[in-house]
Amino acid sequence: MLLRRELEAREAAWLAPWAMPSAASRGRVHPEPEHALRGAYQRDRERVMHSRAFRRLEYKTQVFVNHEGDYYRTRLTHTLEAAQIARTVARALRLNEDLAEAITLAHDLGHPPFGHAGARALARLLEGHGGFEHNAQALRTVDLLERRYARFRGLNLTWEVREGVWKRRDTPVARALGYADAFDRAQAPLLEAQVADLADAIAYDHHDLDDALKSGLLRLDDLRGLALVDAARARVEARIAELGGDRAERVLRQELVRALVGEQVRDLIEHTHARLEELGVRSLDDVRAAAAPLVALSPAVRQGKLELERFLLERVYRHWRVWRSVHKAERFLAALYRELVADPRLLPDEYREWVAEAGLERGVCDYLAGMTDRYAQREYQKLFEPFEPM
Ligand code: MG
Repeated sequence: MLLRRELEAREAAWLAPWAMPSAASRGRVHPEPEHALRGAYQRDRERVMHSRAFRRLEYKTQVFVNHEGDYYRTRLTHTLEAAQIARTVARALRLNEDLAEAITLAHDLGHPPFGHAGARALARLLEGHGGFEHNAQALRTVDLLERRYARFRGLNLTWEVREGVWKRRDTPVARALGYADAFDRAQAPLLEAQVADLADAIAYDHHDLDDALKSGLLRLDDLRGLALVDAARARVEARIAELGGDRAERVLRQELVRALVGEQVRDLIEHTHARLEELGVRSLDDVRAAAAPLVALSPAVRQGKLELERFLLERVYRHWRVWRSVHKAERFLAALYRELVADPRLLPDEYREWVAEAGLERGVCDYLAGMTDRYAQREYQKLFEPFEPM
């Protein structure tokens, strides 16, 4: 049987000197004895996975609202895709895979229903009450809103996972939520946290592109002129021709998206590795002292990725079909918020108590941010439709 101590010894032998070893964690806000079998970050990963907020990601919109189709990405599948990219990159760079995975699995826990529309709506509604931001809300979710343990509120995650979720955003919202001095802003983020960030972006760029193609919002030929896509498509088509393989557009789409992700992941690993060498990074102290991000795509790929993101913004995120659902979502989150703030007796027991502790506007915001799309829709019906059961 492999005990935690042996796992830690394996880490010491295997991890690169710039990686964060589990045994060196700064620990947890509420001290707990270490687990006999699992390392600290492995335990955090599992705490995140068992949380209520994590399960709710299944019914939270990524880009395409849930009821539009069963095969589009949700926040949950987005999170899982991002986590596997993070693991691949972390493993290849001999970083702490458990830490990178735990951060990635937790990174979207603060996302309200209806994707960015929901986040925008809450930010507007909370103006003058500290504001709203999904990163700060993710930290608040793991620190306070989850209630699973008798001894403390929250999941009591390690300092390093919480720091990764915080994303070094020293914003007015983070300050309003009490995170002004929670972390050391003078220190650069751990490489595992940087990997989690880029894995997130690589995942959403490409699965949003894939979903947009699948839904018919975009056609493959609309992508002509995008440098990364053109290059990947030429390679994929040449390979399919050589193999005499399936030329159906559906297959081409998936081969293309897979090639794009694969090439960016490889570029990220190679470029980061070269950067670590070039900048003489030899230790965790060097990582903490770095003046610029160390985990990075090569300049050419980074340019191509920005070009793709601009294209997605214009052609997908602002497409009228997406925009309609966005607009509707903003309207009914606002209606729910106003109704509940005006009369908090409408809140379920758990949140009525929470409002007394956290404050009216903040407590209602926590309630709304935790909702899934369909829960918010049901709640709206219950509060506003005359013949809905309570
Ligand atoms: Mg994300």
